[in-house]
Amino acid sequence: MKTDREFAADVTRKLQAAGFTALFAGGCVRDDLLGRTPKDYDVATNATPDQVRDLFGHKRTLPIGESFGVITVLGPRSVQPIEVATFRRDGGYSDGRRPDSVEFTDAREDAERRDFTINGMFFDPLTDTVIDYVGGQDDLKLKQIRAIGDAEARIEEDKLRMLRGVRFAATYGFSIEAHTLAAVQKRAPEIDAVSPERIGAELVRMFGHSSFVTAYRLLIESNLWGEVLPQEFLGDPESEKTRLEELNRLRISNGHSNQVAAVIAILVRSALEGQRGLLARLKNAWKLSNELTSSIRWIVNAIPVLSNCHQRKWSEVQPWLIHADATAALDVVEAVGENIRASVEFARAKILLPKEKLNPDPLVTGQDLIDSGIAPGPNFKTILQSVRDGQLDGEIETREQALKRLATL
Ligand code: ATP
Ligand code: MG
Repeated sequence: MKTDREFAADVTRKLQAAGFTALFAGGCVRDDLLGRTPKDYDVATNATPDQVRDLFGHKRTLPIGESFGVITVLGPRSVQPIEVATFRRDGGYSDGRRPDSVEFTDAREDAERRDFTINGMFFDPLTDTVIDYVGGQDDLKLKQIRAIGDAEARIEEDKLRMLRGVRFAATYGFSIEAHTLAAVQKRAPEIDAVSPERIGAELVRMFGHSSFVTAYRLLIESNLWGEVLPQEFLGDPESEKTRLEELNRLRISNGHSNQVAAVIAILVRSALEGQRGLLARLKNAWKLSNELTSSIRWIVNAIPVLSNCHQRKWSEVQPWLIHADATAALDVVEAVGENIRASVEFARAKILLPKEKLNPDPLVTGQDLIDSGIAPGPNFKTILQSVRDGQLDGEIETREQALKRLATL
């Protein structure tokens, strides 16, 4: 079966055989050189979108990005489609985010419109050569993120580049080259030109990566944190230091932990204390999903319960431990709590119990209430809850005992 890389090389070969220049471009070249598997391969060429479509056939191409010079070429079922982009130079940027127009040009100018040197290289898979007009290979060796050309001008064109730079630095463990960092620090307030969706997507990627501590540190150092975080959540510099220490202590449990929710919960929990509705502001500012927002809220609420859960009644603790985010909440408790060792050990051991121990089926149901002549109403839930608590706390062990308890309620 063909790999994505082989298909990308096929596409490149076919373009070259037809007399065009065609090269792997951008992120995939960077990832190849770093020994990482690229998410996707992009091909850049001097063929125009029309020529690309003619060469590969209209059935095997999609013109989704045609206005930017991008044609999607479909491959066999086993591979991802490849985006073939005509070398381009971007026209003016009047909105601080997207080029007003694009003009087709050559490889060098196409490299120069890209954001960072490590993202600005080409690779010819047929001759195995890197084509590097922007010094990307040097910066890969130096492990640094450097804007192509004048950093401030490049940020002015597209403010999203500031967050991308921080993300690449964090996730690759690179530094941000001094001029590039200074430009971000100066231009950070302009990040508001970027849509909440894009800001949120970048932050979620950073907080979902193992380098989340570095990401937070770089967000602060670059002045971006104070701009992307809604005012109401901003603490003093001292609290930023505390958050950093807490994130440093955060160990994400293998497998079942909701890392992004855990990280954000740590970053915002003190602001949320006693402030109902505040989380909605964050949800809006970063266009977080309902699911992620609920997880963050749930984790923040779980912290006080789980912090001393071994001293609480089981019927109170159990509903928290059967929740999908319980592991993430325990990870957070371990990072932020004091004197929590016994509770966390207790809770982690309980979570591992088989379902019939951790969360046994209820002994009675609403139907049993109806059968015993209790009229359906708001107290139904209270009654069932009281029987459930009795069951969990070991006061009621059998269905007979449960039905007897119903009769007394
Ligand atoms: P990843 O896919 O891991 O996020 P990437 O570098 O491949 O990283 P993409 O968004 O897939 O990022 O973009 C592909 C290439 O397009 C980049 O490597 C870069 O050369 C260029 N690029 C993407 N976004 C920008 C931007 N905002 N400004 C300038 N060039 C960009
Ligand atoms: Mg990519």
